Amino acid sequence: MTATTASSAPRPIPFDNSYARLPGTMHVGVNPTFVEAPRLIKVNSGLADELGIDPEALTAEVAVGNAVPEGAAPIAQAYAGHQFGNFVPQLGDGRAILLGEVVDRNGIRRDIQLKGAGPTPFSRRGDGRAALGPVLREYLMSEAMHALGIPTTRALMAATTGERVYRETMLPGAVLTRVAASHIRVGTFQFFAARRDLDSLNLLVDHVIARHYPDLATAENKALALLDAVMERQAKLVSRWVQVGFIHGVMNTDNTSISGETIDYGPCAFMDAYDPQTVFSSIDEYGRYAYGNQAPIAQWNLARLAETLLPFLHENRDEAIKIATERIEGFPAIYTRYWLDGFRKKIGLVSEEDGDLDLIQALLDAMQLARLDFTITFRKLANGEEASGLQSWTPKWHDRLERDPQPHEERHKLMRSVSPAYIPRNHLVEEMIQAAIERGDYQPFENMLRVLMMPYQEQPGMERYSEAPVPGEALYRTFCGT
Ligand code: AMP
Ligand code: MG
Repeated sequence: MTATTASSAPRPIPFDNSYARLPGTMHVGVNPTFVEAPRLIKVNSGLADELGIDPEALTAEVAVGNAVPEGAAPIAQAYAGHQFGNFVPQLGDGRAILLGEVVDRNGIRRDIQLKGAGPTPFSRRGDGRAALGPVLREYLMSEAMHALGIPTTRALMAATTGERVYRETMLPGAVLTRVAASHIRVGTFQFFAARRDLDSLNLLVDHVIARHYPDLATAENKALALLDAVMERQAKLVSRWVQVGFIHGVMNTDNTSISGETIDYGPCAFMDAYDPQTVFSSIDEYGRYAYGNQAPIAQWNLARLAETLLPFLHENRDEAIKIATERIEGFPAIYTRYWLDGFRKKIGLVSEEDGDLDLIQALLDAMQLARLDFTITFRKLANGEEASGLQSWTPKWHDRLERDPQPHEERHKLMRSVSPAYIPRNHLVEEMIQAAIERGDYQPFENMLRVLMMPYQEQPGMERYSEAPVPGEALYRTFCGT
């Protein structure tokens, strides 16, 4: 090779596609659809490195699906799901194409998926495309969640297609490259249960255990052990959401990941003023997925998972239902354990007392009454600052702190490590999206992303990103969910 060669070919992506090797009942082979003028918006080089992928391999052509990298086995995955409580026996990847899997530097298998790469056999009446706004929203939100330390799918790339998509208006089209521990959902189990396809269901249980819960491989009743393990991870996940004021927005069973990651960022948002009734999604008319409803909904979704596993729980169906019901009824206690653990830290406690739950609830009630900003209030407490509106609660808290053996400095360090200074404020997310759509200006996206990468650390000059919206700025509905 001569010195004048610009660059050698990038190292191929080390694909190893275990889901594509499962039977054809579970997926359909499909190629991305060619687009006119792909342009990269962003490559997440840190994540590429974690995945052992040569960043040079992450071109605009790959990001939109015009070039399918060597070793990929593009498929659309089959799944069903309850959407707002109604069962749809076939949903599936209607606009997402799984390129394949890589085993990352930590030995963890990760999916690489293109979201918005064109129609698939599951598209129904949809165009298989994604608009730029939701792609930027998902990129930013998922990376912010990761920086907060909350399990989530990740964003590897975002690119525009050079084509328009029609939603309520014409919008620029884009594709998000999403990375997940897997894209297996509660709805994946429902797909086979609805078809009474026990063979596929059985294979799915084994695949999920091997991939996400290897310790359960030797369990006496694998399906029951799996149900317990998924419940544990969902309880932990939703408690983490609630502790940072996150509202998923569309907790349908097809958006509930078996691995316990946050998945499918649609009309999601972080709450500003504390109010458990907060809803952002314009399609969530009855507040099914309101902030304060997320734990009961997770339990409901887990009950749907349990139903799919009944044939494996006991040969006698009544017995199986009894076992499943007992497990699902245990969810609130598991959730409360995680909830308490998290909120104790947020008020600086390392010891446990019976009255802690009431003390935390009294704080939340006071915040609701005074319409205090959730994030700012907890950050003030963490920084040892006076938070107005909490005059009657503060003395009770101080009493409790006297019985908590911990140096002042340590306590505030702990509190700052769980109560962020920065969250993706919805009014700023909207502003960032508008700048990109209207002016092709991605600077607000870049700026916001940078601040959100260190959410637990005050960054001088970045105060704007920690401020609550002024009344006119607050957005109550997110219309650009999809
Ligand atoms: P979501 O609300 O994004 O979780 O999607 C619910 C279902 O609708 C999934 O089966 C998606 O694949 C499908 N879907 C959403 N948007 C589109 C689209 N633009 N084209 C095709 N299918 C879509
Ligand atoms: Mg979905």
